[in-house]
Amino acid sequence: MGNEPQVAVIGAGIVGLCTAYALLERGVEVRVYEQGVPGNGQSGGLWRIFRHAHDDPRLVEATQASRTAYAEWGERLGVEMVSGDGAVALGPSAERRLPLLQRLGVPARRIDAEELAQCHPLLAAYDGPAVLDEGGGSIRTTATIQALTAMLGDRRVGDEVIGIRPLGERVEVRSGGSTHTYDRVVVAAGRGSAHLARTVGLSLPVQHAAHVRLTFAVRGQAPARLATLQDSSGEFGETGIYAAAVPGNTAYALGLSQTTEAREDASLVSSGELGDLAARAGDYVRRALPGLDPEPVDVRHCWVTLLPWGEDGMAVWESGGLLFPAGHNLWKQAPALGRKLAVAAAGQELDPVLTPSSRLGAPTTLSDATVRR
Ligand SMILES: Cc1cc2nc3c(=O)[nH]c(=O)nc-3n(C[C@H](O)[C@H](O)[C@H](O)COP(=O)(O)OP(=O)(O)OC[C@H]3O[C@@H](n4cnc5c(N)ncnc54)[C@H](O)[C@@H]3O)c2cc1C
Repeated sequence: MGNEPQVAVIGAGIVGLCTAYALLERGVEVRVYEQGVPGNGQSGGLWRIFRHAHDDPRLVEATQASRTAYAEWGERLGVEMVSGDGAVALGPSAERRLPLLQRLGVPARRIDAEELAQCHPLLAAYDGPAVLDEGGGSIRTTATIQALTAMLGDRRVGDEVIGIRPLGERVEVRSGGSTHTYDRVVVAAGRGSAHLARTVGLSLPVQHAAHVRLTFAVRGQAPARLATLQDSSGEFGETGIYAAAVPGNTAYALGLSQTTEAREDASLVSSGELGDLAARAGDYVRRALPGLDPEPVDVRHCWVTLLPWGEDGMAVWESGGLLFPAGHNLWKQAPALGRKLAVAAAGQELDPVLTPSSRLGAPTTLSDATVRR
């Protein structure tokens, strides 16, 4: 590594990796602390959905910036970070969000049953409202994590951060095997961020919950094109389904948006609920996706971090040279969020849209109001 880094990033999940890469883009040296395997926390698994559709126009704009960054970085690093297969949304919320997407220039449109069958050949017959977001798709999580981690080289330290402490102009970071000081520290520690924030007297209003996603094998030949799916229609017995293809389209991973609540000490309130959610996901596959074998081939249980004002809410808390990003569904937001964190970590003002008081991602009627005008 060249010069002693000015900035530390705690956590090599997708948010920490994107922040570190964005700092390097700006010529700012960085050290990344990761206690485990990069990308194996909340960012783990083979896929995520990239979609532009949200009710808050500021979030739509944030995903547009992220989509551009994924394309740019993917080209530079020689990997496909988001598939070009599109994101399909079914049901009334898809239709409600469409005017906003179109007004903001997202290439999204209503599609008929025939086109739906082309971009989603695994789906049972459906002729209700369906929207295709052509800029959406399956995020290639493994390839993205590997490419960004490789860029770090020896800037990554395999160690747990135990303590952080503002020291006037600098911030001290104590890990298992070292103590260093930095100009700024970005705490992108996922579920560990609230814990570290408490050590500097900050209480992040996050709630932790657990998710389950199951992977099902595609029957027969893998389709050449396989869009992601968000189903709020109720047509197949569920109103909160999220699903995306794994690389190669040989399997499709699916889960309910519903999570299992956890207490503050991270114990699950109802340990049986994850099993119930998994069973409902399997039943949905039997009803809605005849192109899949309904016996799951893989399962992923994972923690998520939720903010009180909305499922897609995100914000950054600042305190004495420290920046704490938090929120849910951050894979689709991470590159643009990382770039904004890099600007602030380099000493400029944090984009006000990310301050907690702006409640980015709150379910708002602003989008509808703006569109109606
Ligand atoms: C099943 C599931 C499905 C999802 N689907 C989607 C989706 O379709 N689209 C989407 O955009 N998002 C989705 N999300 C949400 C998304 O995955 C997360 O918002 C995102 O991965 C969070 O990334 P992160 O970098 O903040 O956290 P993490 O990936 O958890 O990274 C934090 C890292 O910090 C490290 N760490 C923690 N404490 C310390 C410490 N003290 N010292 C050193 N290292 C530390 C951890 O080991 C970890 O690697 C989904 C999440 C789940 C669980």
